[in-house]
Amino acid sequence: MEAEIISVGTELLLGQIANTNAQYLGERLAELGIDLHRVTTVGDNAERLRSALEGAWERADLIILTGGLGPTEDDLTKETVAEFLGLELVLDEAALEHIRCFFARTGRTMPPANAKQALIPVGGEVLPNQYGTAPGVWVEKDGRIVVILPGPPFELKPMFENTVADKLRRRLAGERKVIKSRVLKLYGIGESHAEELVRDLIASQTNPTLAPYAKETEIQFRLTAKAASEEEAEAMLARLEEKVRERLGRYIFARDAETMQEVVGKLLSVRGESLAVAESCTGGLVADWITNVPGSSAYFLGGVVAYSNALKEKLLGVPASILQEEGPVSSAVAEAMARGVRALAGADYGAAVTGLAGPDGGTPEKPVGLVFVAAANGQKTVSERYEWRGSRLVIKRRAAQATLNLVRKLILGLQD
Ligand code: ATP
Repeated sequence: MEAEIISVGTELLLGQIANTNAQYLGERLAELGIDLHRVTTVGDNAERLRSALEGAWERADLIILTGGLGPTEDDLTKETVAEFLGLELVLDEAALEHIRCFFARTGRTMPPANAKQALIPVGGEVLPNQYGTAPGVWVEKDGRIVVILPGPPFELKPMFENTVADKLRRRLAGERKVIKSRVLKLYGIGESHAEELVRDLIASQTNPTLAPYAKETEIQFRLTAKAASEEEAEAMLARLEEKVRERLGRYIFARDAETMQEVVGKLLSVRGESLAVAESCTGGLVADWITNVPGSSAYFLGGVVAYSNALKEKLLGVPASILQEEGPVSSAVAEAMARGVRALAGADYGAAVTGLAGPDGGTPEKPVGLVFVAAANGQKTVSERYEWRGSRLVIKRRAAQATLNLVRKLILGLQD
């Protein structure tokens, strides 16, 4: 079964709201093993909605429309669909009663305009709305299924979950397939370089598929498999993951929802070792991320936000001469901070970050986005230099990720 979504709402086009309904439906359809091929967004405009319907009708077996079921003039989804399908709209008494009760429950009488929400295309099935007035509609014609759902997510989700998903499942019984995805997270390699190393795998495969995504603080590869059973899909993913790991394994730090801070936390936990951090440009973000992980008190001793040179000197023992000669944004200072906080806290590992988050204060030698991270244990101190473009907050998040990654590398003894 091939599906398309048509999201209706001028608010969506104006960027005032994000299309979370399409995102939600995309996930649900994938779980059901239904291929979603296209999401179209149109404003509250009958003509453009009709043209979107025409296109979807040509291509898809299942068309899901969201939004535009309200009582006002510009809510025209049902009217346009009915006209497109050549079906008359008739008043559904039960749906009308539901709307009346909905108002009565809050001590109001139903405004006459809301009666139009109880109009249903002839032959269509009413999908009850537990949390709002507008019922959904399931209607079939010429071998295609058209489903109309209300816009508010808290109405759409239960309606899909409670009625639509079941109906689709019954329809698919026999030809049901599952779609499973897996995400590999990479650090220390750019998107295009990573893609180059697995280009043949991307090009040659239609199932499972492999696709790279550049995220703010990492590269991700999404592996997706479609099969008759969950076990079969998982086995296909495992085989593909192995191939990807053969080429890119040294850059892969986590899978699926796992974060860098969780990975570092696990590494420290199993070793019974501890960490302390010294932060300048990230202002405590590294400590924040680390402490977002439950159980972090087992390995995280604490952190110092040493923003000024004076505090770097006083609290972390960074020599004034290095601060003078190298400047506070330098590998020498990052390394001294890492050693300093390790000694201060009595930790097995010390990590540090110093940089220019901008937007002002850059010079040709020390541009905005220049960041040094360092990590130290009893044997050695390592540091890395990064230069990023981006807003202040983006640079702070990238710097935090780079700091944690360096700790990970030091623990694992990974050399560049
Ligand atoms: P109502 O019956 O409440 O009038 P409706 O079916 O007419 O609902 P819309 O008027 O299109 O739906 O949208 C109502 C609200 O639902 C929007 O203001 C928005 O908050 C939310 N909404 C609509 N479409 C989406 C979408 N695609 N993704 C997320 N939220 C949405």
